[in-house]
Amino acid sequence: MTEKQTHAFATSQTATKLLGGRPDCPFMPVFGAPQVMFERGQGTQLWDVNGKRYLDFLCGIAVTSLGHSHPVIAAAIAHQANTLLHVSNFFSNPVATQTAMMVDKLVSESFGAKNAGQVFFCNSGAEANEAGIKLARKFGGRGKHVVVSALGSFHGRTLAALAATGQPEKHEPFAPMPEGFRHVVFNDIKSLEASLDASVAAVLLETVQGEGGVIPASVEYLQAVRKLCTERGILMMIDEVQTGFARTGKWFGFEHADIKPDVVMLAKAMGNGMPIGALWATKEVASVFKPGDHGSTFSGTAIATAAARATIQLMIDMDAPAVVQQKGEELSAKLRTINSVVEVRGRGLLLAAELKPELDAKKIATQLLDLGLVVNGVTSHALRFAPPFTVSSAEIDEAIEIMKVVL
Ligand SMILES: *Cc1c(COP(=O)(O)O)cnc(C)c1O
Repeated sequence: MTEKQTHAFATSQTATKLLGGRPDCPFMPVFGAPQVMFERGQGTQLWDVNGKRYLDFLCGIAVTSLGHSHPVIAAAIAHQANTLLHVSNFFSNPVATQTAMMVDKLVSESFGAKNAGQVFFCNSGAEANEAGIKLARKFGGRGKHVVVSALGSFHGRTLAALAATGQPEKHEPFAPMPEGFRHVVFNDIKSLEASLDASVAAVLLETVQGEGGVIPASVEYLQAVRKLCTERGILMMIDEVQTGFARTGKWFGFEHADIKPDVVMLAKAMGNGMPIGALWATKEVASVFKPGDHGSTFSGTAIATAAARATIQLMIDMDAPAVVQQKGEELSAKLRTINSVVEVRGRGLLLAAELKPELDAKKIATQLLDLGLVVNGVTSHALRFAPPFTVSSAEIDEAIEIMKVVL
């Protein structure tokens, strides 16, 4: 081993020693040492292996939006597990077909259209972005393949999604990155305009930069991007992996700006914890894909789409956007009553509390965890909140009380 490898190995050994009392756990050390080992969840609550109770105001990063162990989703998964798990894409199954129709209906209706697009199922947010980047390249054609995205963005960890991610420090260890990506200043239309030339196929944006610190794109910016993309014949691709499925108080984050995107990426909350993602594109754009251009063994697998179908149907039945709007207002108003919170930003139930600059958000998050509140330090001075849509007022009050104790 080289010295660098020896050091990495030693570090990974230290990390595995901390793995909840399991020094034999063979996880690769990409995530750092986990702080708690959770065993079970119910609604907003989690319990660790020692039986200690926590309030989950993070939802596995905006994933379990309907809470843990939702009985209807659990039953849908169990039923599908006893019926049909998987058949491959040489064939189809009724669950995937129905789920694709539901996703297309939701996206299309969000800009007042009907059956406007087509859907490709995948297993994660990064995969949805990979598929979207390939689609943009095929749509643009030779010489028109560049994808422009924003500094501070996050689009995933696979190579092309990482190249689109506007965080150069994450690229550095894996250079050279795939060619054909460009980054511009977020929320700055002049910066975007200056980057556009004949080689640009698509603009890829989040409507709220989640990993970047819960920074919303302004309505004017999104509308100006839409206008510019239309004028230049460039695709507007919206990464709704974190913001999609009602998290921001609308079905999709782009609805806040009243725009119609050409391509939409979805994942996180789609299966309430079952790994599934989707790429949606208008029929015109999707039609450039031909058999063999893209695929995935697990695309549209019955067990994952059954979870997504149940999740989406529950969200429709509860009018999730309205619920999220109301609870988001309640949570942000209560966060504003805390002395050390200088700003609350975000949309719906995707919020960040900016703390006084002398407070270290990662340390505060650890102290909150000790007292039973799960959130995360999304930047060095801001905490991210993404509680389930089913969170009660009493649970919000309990979380605020824990914050007041720590702060
Ligand atoms: C989490 C996230 C991704 C990556 O999703 P994975 O499922 O982790 O691959 C992509 N884009 C956005 C906006 C995200 O928040």
